[in-house]
Amino acid sequence: MEKICAKCKQELPLDAFHFIEKSKRYHSYCKKCRKEYHKEWRNKNRERINTKARKNREENREIYRAYDAKWRLKYPDKIKAQNEKYYWDNIESERKRKAEWYQRNKKRILAKHREYRLNKKNN
Ligand SMILES: [Zn+2]
Repeated sequence: MEKICAKCKQELPLDAFHFIEKSKRYHSYCKKCRKEYHKEWRNKNRERINTKARKNREENREIYRAYDAKWRLKYPDKIKAQNEKYYWDNIESERKRKAEWYQRNKKRILAKHREYRLNKKNN
């Protein structure tokens, strides 16, 4: 049995279409067209999807935090690898971030060092 895709108008075998369990019928777009349609939709709605994801994360911060903590405990090596990857992927901005942090905290850091040296001398 074949079916004509409503999008590309091609006659295709039924297994080229997704079967919708709920309505017990095949989707009117073939799998390929559906995939493209979704990709397009995601591109068009990227802003909205991101905003929604961010909002969702903020609203469920506690849940995510607990989840993250659990995950970190369970997979410390993965986290380490991930952090390292992030660092190397973003080395320029990481360097900048560190330099900026240093500039902001310079006085405090230098004071700490001075204190440390004084303590060492006195002991
Ligand atoms: Zn199609």
